[in-house]
Amino acid sequence: MPAPLMDTYSPPDLVFEKGEGVYLYTAAGDRYLDFISGIAVNALGHAHPKAVAALKAQADKIWHLSNMFQVPGQKVLADKLTGATFADRVFFTNSGAEAVECALKTARHYFFNKGEPHRYRIITFAGAFHGRTYGAINAGGNPKYLEGFGPAMEGFDQVPFGDMDAVKAAITEETAAILIEPVQGEGGVRAVADADLRQLRSLCDEHGLLLIYDEVQCGAGRTGKLFAHEWAGSAQPDIMAVAKGIGGGFPMGACLATEEAGNHMVVGTHGSTFGGNPLAMAVGNVVFDELSAPGFMDQVVETGNYLGQQLQGLADRHSGIVEEVRGRGLLLGLKLNDSVVNKQVAGLARDRGLLIGAAGDNVARMAPPLIITREHAHEAIEKLDDALTEAAKG
Ligand SMILES: *Cc1c(COP(=O)(O)O)cnc(C)c1O
Repeated sequence: MPAPLMDTYSPPDLVFEKGEGVYLYTAAGDRYLDFISGIAVNALGHAHPKAVAALKAQADKIWHLSNMFQVPGQKVLADKLTGATFADRVFFTNSGAEAVECALKTARHYFFNKGEPHRYRIITFAGAFHGRTYGAINAGGNPKYLEGFGPAMEGFDQVPFGDMDAVKAAITEETAAILIEPVQGEGGVRAVADADLRQLRSLCDEHGLLLIYDEVQCGAGRTGKLFAHEWAGSAQPDIMAVAKGIGGGFPMGACLATEEAGNHMVVGTHGSTFGGNPLAMAVGNVVFDELSAPGFMDQVVETGNYLGQQLQGLADRHSGIVEEVRGRGLLLGLKLNDSVVNKQVAGLARDRGLLIGAAGDNVARMAPPLIITREHAHEAIEKLDDALTEAAKG
């Protein structure tokens, strides 16, 4: 009999039955320390009491309306997001790729609306990941994800990561925007230099371009600021895609924009049946409130620094296979050399009760819930130490 699921994933032979805080449990009661959290999604850990309560309370009232009718939770959350960021306008989506699609459409429509429809090209960066929809794979430009899906979509100009001269050279009369992840996730956990983000901002100002950030993975407190670009100071975007962590595990995303970049997205330009659904808004509001509670980000910075230092120690001890520590806050990676494969290290860690992920460029990726403590970091380091020792044996 053929398998009912498409073979797009190959999960290990392991089923989790429940989650609590930073741990996942199988039906047999085996416990795993979750240092990947649904790929940077379960920001508050599993089964956070306030998020569960909000979801249950909303489930008893209204599950779904569509945007034919007002969803009061949307305005509440949009007020919080605009109050805390550069943005004035918000469109809610169900996923990161949809948030990116909205960002791309908003940028192109901005120039169309200004009477400059010939400005539609978007500069992107090698190693980028923006999701798996048709627009997003073309923006990401990863040949592996594009192959076999028909002609590449017109309008994306990719430059090497970190090459500011290439960015300048790529700007033409037809350029509309620059799209970048302040910290690349899937591409190998690479943080863009703060100075580069500031320079991108000035280039956009100089040439009248829109700056778009994809903070789907690095946003929502992951780096110790509500959004990663805040570390760079005066490098605010015009448009930003967010998702993953802002729903804390409930599927949701958002496209944020300034008044100028977003006010032309009027009735008929864009839409979503599920985006901003009452259940998503109930959870999204709780997640936002927790992330912005006094001291929460300080704790992320503190544990992020601690985990980063401990990983550096591991990298030194295992210099035969680990090249460097990458990332920012609680989005961290170990760049491995050619003698080992990241997925193999993740498998060895899993055998020891620690869940981590793999990213591009042979990086072992960690994105634990933002609520971890030093003790959790310590537990993860012990297990990783052991896994790396085993991996080095070949
Ligand atoms: C995961 C991710 C996406 C896509 O999000 P989905 O919810 O899987 O559609 C887009 N951009 C970045 C930076 C991501 O990490």
